Formats: sequence, C-alpha cells, structure tokens
Amino acid sequence: MRTDSPLMPTYPPAPVTFVRGEGARLWDDQGREYLDLLSGLAVTSLGHSHPAVADALAEQARTLLHVSNLFGTTVGPEVAATLDRLMGVGQPGWPAEGTRGQVFFSNSGAEANECAIKLARKVGGRGRHVVVSAYGSFHGRTLATLHATGQPAKHEAFQPLPEGFRHVTWCDLDELERALDPSVAAVLLEPVQGEGGVNPATAAYFQGVRRICDERGILFMVDEVQTGLGRCGSWFAHQQLGVVPDVVTMAKALGNGVPIGACWAKREVAEAFEPGDHATTYGGQPLAAAAARAVLATMEAEDVPARARRAGERLAAALEALPGVASVRGLGLLLGVELDGHDAKAVAARLLELGAVVNAVTPTALRLAPSLLITDDEIDLAVSLIEKALAA
Ligand code: PLP
Repeated sequence: MRTDSPLMPTYPPAPVTFVRGEGARLWDDQGREYLDLLSGLAVTSLGHSHPAVADALAEQARTLLHVSNLFGTTVGPEVAATLDRLMGVGQPGWPAEGTRGQVFFSNSGAEANECAIKLARKVGGRGRHVVVSAYGSFHGRTLATLHATGQPAKHEAFQPLPEGFRHVTWCDLDELERALDPSVAAVLLEPVQGEGGVNPATAAYFQGVRRICDERGILFMVDEVQTGLGRCGSWFAHQQLGVVPDVVTMAKALGNGVPIGACWAKREVAEAFEPGDHATTYGGQPLAAAAARAVLATMEAEDVPARARRAGERLAAALEALPGVASVRGLGLLLGVELDGHDAKAVAARLLELGAVVNAVTPTALRLAPSLLITDDEIDLAVSLIEKALAA
C-alpha cells in the first residue's frame, strides 16, 4: 500500500496524534484533552508520566544505561526476585524466600513468549516440541508466536510458519485432551484472551488443564502479557483460577510504557537452559529494569490488584446498566463491553470525538483497560461519555 508516511503501512492512518499524557489523561497536538481508557493497550497501568517511573528513568540514565548481559548488573536481578515473590501471592505452599522460579528478561511480550517456546522445546527434547494453544488467542507477531496465535487469518500471508504449533477450541477441555499426543511439550493459554475479544477462562478449565498437564508431564505455560501485574485484580490472573503454572510470561505493564518483558519459570524448568541457549542484547538492561523496579514498588505501595478489583466492579456495574450495552465481561480492569446492535468501531470513533480513548476489540465489543489508579470521578466520566456515544 503506497502512503506518504515515512512508516511502513502496517497500521491504518492514525486518527489523532498524542503529544502528552498525565495519569489517565492524554493531550493531542491540537491541545485537546482525552480520557484514556485503553492505556496504550494495557501498558500504562499506573497512568501516563508517573513521577516514580520518570524519576527512576532519569536517575538510572545518569548512572548506567547498558553494559550487555555478558556482565552483571544489580537492577534486573532485584526485579526478578520481586516478580518471583509476587508470583507466590495467594499460592499455598509457596516458599517464603523467593527461590521458587527464575526469570529471563526480554523487550516485549512476543519475545517473552519466544523464550517460553524455546524453553518448552529444551525441556521436551527432540520429537517433543509441539505447543498447543487456543483459537482466539494472541501471543505475538514474531513467526513462532504468530503461529502460536490461534487466529488462522493472521497466518495466511506469512506461510510457511515454523512447525510445532496446534490449536484447540477455547475452554474445551475434552478437545484439548484429544490434541495431546507424545509430540506435545507445552500448553500455552491466556487467563483472559485479550486481543481475541476479552474472553475469560473458567477456573474449572484452567484446573483441568493443570491436571492433564501433570498427568502427562506437559508444561502449562500461561501468557500474562496483557492480564498480569494487577490488571485483573490479582498480581497475576491465574492466581484467581487456582493453578500454579510452570511458565508465566508478562510484559506490557511491567515498564509502564518502557519496553520490557519477562519469562518466569519454575526453577526445575528454568534449569533446562544452559549458557548459550538463549540470549538478548537489551533484555533486563538497567534502564528498562529501573523502570520495572519503580513500577513494581509503586504497584505494591498502591495495592493495585485491590484497586483494579474495586474499580473494575464499579465500572462494569455502571456500564451494564447503560442502554445499548448487552453485557460486560472480563476481570478487574480488563473489560469487554458487548454492544447491543452497535458497530463497535463506529462507537470507538465517536468516543474519540467526544474525548475518550477505547478500542473495538471485536466488531461488536469495546475493550476498556484504563489506568489501575483511575479515580471514581474518572470512572463516572467514562460511563457518561460511553452513554453519550451510544445515544448518538
Ligand atoms: N501476548 C498477549 C496476551 C498479548 O496481548 C500481546 C500483545 O498484545 C502479546 C503477547 C505480544 O506482546 P508484544 O506486542 O509486546 O510483543
């Protein structure tokens, strides 16, 4: 597609250009203010320009930016230990001293999943390399994570994709069980399918997957790139589903806008990697890790899981009562608003005109993923803007 833009045409033309953000507010290049209900696709969970993150970045930039992973640094290991501790919150029998798992840092969610896929292959060994994921899932845009993504329409232009991926119907345990032959190394699932339309898994499904994986010696890998770090009302959404996964990937909220991802694995799984098996130039470098350290400290101080739970209940209840809303689904502050006879893209465009940022996650549903620090007044404003957009 020919355009005048200096950027490749992988996105449609941008409807607005943002130049500044503060908390749940954005301003465009015309000086217009917006209420941000999307957080850069569930990334700026502490809101825009959070002072703790800005200060941490400035201080780290003056101290040490980068030395590569050939040498030790102090910030990344600190963040890894915090993530390992948070992984145990609400999990009975979790060792107190945070030595349960180990972390590999990446620069994005897709790369965190690449690490998980390589780890599954290393654990499984030759001939046991298949990763089973669900239709409707989203795991990234690299060739391997694209194939893990259960959306065949997105595969077509890029065939042949790397071998070793299989898809099953979302939340159908029998079908999953039938798909597991001796070539399967891992099952990879989101606790709530984000890009696929905000479709929450049931606890029974996740617990069933855990049981089957245990019976067959298959890894259960959970993609928390969108759901992790407080967004769904717990540190990680799987903690509400009664399972301990073998591998958990995350990214988005970890840097509050600074690119950083992580793949956590149980120690006995992580130990399958040896020096040289996997690597990254930037992953876990001090600048990104300093942002993550500030993010996690602020999230703990603010108890963001509890705030997301409360705010999510308030927002969902108010939206459910609106004319034009058929139902609201999701967990915490990751919500899908199913519309009654409205075109979601048109409603999202109308909301942008009215000064609110959302996206159409399916042709009939809006996705809301606001800052986890959103105030009650901002929630009330969001509801009134959505009401107005639906009345138009
Ligand atoms: N996994 C999930 C569940 C996601 O929602 C996304 C992005 O939306 C990714 C992976 C890919 O992350 P990234 O775009 O940072 O590569």
